[in-house]
Amino acid sequence: KPVIGVLALQGGVAEHLAALERSGADARPVRRAEELAAVQGIVLPGGESTTMTRLLDTFELYEPLRERLAAGLPAYGSCAGMIMLSREVVGEDRELPAVRPLGALDVVVRRNAFGRQVDSFETDLEFAGIPDGPVHAVFIRAPWVEKVGADVQVLAEVPGTAPDDPDATGRDAAAGRIVAVQQGPVLATAFHPELVGGDERVHRYFVQIVRARLGSAAQA
Ligand code: GLN
Repeated sequence: KPVIGVLALQGGVAEHLAALERSGADARPVRRAEELAAVQGIVLPGGESTTMTRLLDTFELYEPLRERLAAGLPAYGSCAGMIMLSREVVGEDRELPAVRPLGALDVVVRRNAFGRQVDSFETDLEFAGIPDGPVHAVFIRAPWVEKVGADVQVLAEVPGTAPDDPDATGRDAAAGRIVAVQQGPVLATAFHPELVGGDERVHRYFVQIVRARLGSAAQA
């Protein structure tokens, strides 16, 4: 079984651990550098990216995590986890200290992008690479991906008009909003598949990424 850690400083840790176990992984919480060193993949859960940045510093995990990601550790971030994996964050940032993203994904994300009036919503999304129909997506004060680099694949978009106040970002209200991306072994969703009981397809997809990585490492 691939050993997959869930960064357990804050946020939706238990749900990810459970979904990973159901997807065939040996899932473990990660709070210390020694625990990080033992994993073959890592999940960054939802929560608050400002708080997560601060706690990564407090637990002296920021640099070790950034280094492992730079060395190709497979990673999956949901919501705040997506923000942490990005290379640049835009949007209101009145809280201090600011988010310091880890730069594992060549994307620019906008925090709390879907607007203030609509804090959360749910919808069904086509997800490239995931079979058997749309994925139910729960968005909670979610980011979206505003720019992607050349090596980034877009896996899912919320089509059409944003639920709320698209003018705030100056973007075409009719344009799709990118909410799932992959770059090599790094996956991110703006939504929370771990909150949808009984459907582990996104987690299985990530476990497959980790397995593929381990397979190619064994052959090398
Ligand atoms: N709004 C949060 C942030 O900016 C993310 C919310 C979530 O993870 N559900 O970090």
